Amino acid sequence: MRERVLVVGGGIAGLALAAALDPRRVEVTLVEERPERAGAGTVLTLWRPALAAVGRIGLGEQLAAAGRASDHGTLRDSRGEVLTSRRVPRLTFVPRPALVAALEGALPEGVTRMTTGVTDPRALAAELGADLVVGADGVRSTCRRDAFPGTDPVATDQVVLRGHLAQEATDPTEWWGPGGVFGATPGPRGSAWFCSVHDPGPRTPTVDHADVLALATRHFADWDPRLGEVLRIAGEGADAQRILLTPAMRRITADGLVLIGDAAHGMAPNLGRGANEAIHDALVLAGAVHRHGAKGAPAPFARRRHLRTQALRATATVAMRTATSRRLPPVRDPLLRLLPGDVDHHAIRGGSG
Ligand SMILES: Cc1cc2nc3c(=O)[nH]c(=O)nc-3n(C[C@H](O)[C@H](O)[C@H](O)COP(=O)(O)OP(=O)(O)OC[C@H]3O[C@@H](n4cnc5c(N)ncnc54)[C@H](O)[C@@H]3O)c2cc1C
Repeated sequence: MRERVLVVGGGIAGLALAAALDPRRVEVTLVEERPERAGAGTVLTLWRPALAAVGRIGLGEQLAAAGRASDHGTLRDSRGEVLTSRRVPRLTFVPRPALVAALEGALPEGVTRMTTGVTDPRALAAELGADLVVGADGVRSTCRRDAFPGTDPVATDQVVLRGHLAQEATDPTEWWGPGGVFGATPGPRGSAWFCSVHDPGPRTPTVDHADVLALATRHFADWDPRLGEVLRIAGEGADAQRILLTPAMRRITADGLVLIGDAAHGMAPNLGRGANEAIHDALVLAGAVHRHGAKGAPAPFARRRHLRTQALRATATVAMRTATSRRLPPVRDPLLRLLPGDVDHHAIRGGSG
């Protein structure tokens, strides 16, 4: 008889898991609260191992074709001066809607889909006769808070705007300065951009778009003039959010339940790893279910993934603090300038980002 797995959340982690589970062995119910939002977003950076992982569910070529690849990155200070410009591991910039659509397309026919916001994961699991509940419901995870009380998301002081721009960006570029970060990557409509800025106000989990745009416009006014121009042209159409983190988790498995993706390790975006780790979680958990059965899978899964992803979560916070620090630039920037680069900084100083 096939085992039953209930997956709560149809974002990247939940879809990748449902796509990777063998329908001959596992009966999957996938519940998503807001399918219309699940495919929203701008561009995600996929590192080579994550692209290889999606290749195992037959999507490698499709996503490589949907994305834009680069093996170069540039870091600038707030005035636009190059701090370092160098080769980086090959990155593919994939539109989030394309990634979600590809994962949707890879779902086996037998997956049952439900559209509802799960409030009591265990009651739903009992109703469906599920052998395992997978909490893939993101950083605000109901599954996590149900199984591990006191694990509400942590609201940071950073608020973010993300959008598209018609202007071409060939390589990823970031501007680091006091209290904020601005970034541009290749994107489907030319480039995708984001900025993250210190919000001195109360750390409300949700934010008002107009407030964040006004804050960002003030904050970046005396940075590289190109950044203010991006906000002026494309700020209105951008998405605004506060950076929320999953608190440090001692465990990500409980009786009959396992957390994957941001539910387990929602991290600051500064390493560009959250979606990558969500994909790896999904593939590793699917392998563990196939090998150990649904009930036996959480322990071997956690042995492989828990420490690594908690360490990345902590490192991403350090990266966010390093990039946005008000005190570090006088020490950090000269050190970054010393890094061996492979591009003549003077030649590209003032060039387009
Ligand atoms: C500004 C920014 C930039 C980023 N850039 C990158 C990047 O370049 N590379 C990268 O790898 N990562 C990046 N990330 C992180 C990445 O977006 C996340 O790590 C990734 O989306 C996590 O996937 P997930 O499936 O775990 O969670 P989510 O994508 O949040 O999906 C969770 C799903 O669960 C659903 N859900 C929630 N609660 C319930 C419920 N109770 N019942 C039913 N459904 C529910 C939600 O509607 C949602 O669809 C970035 C994040 C931010 C904020």
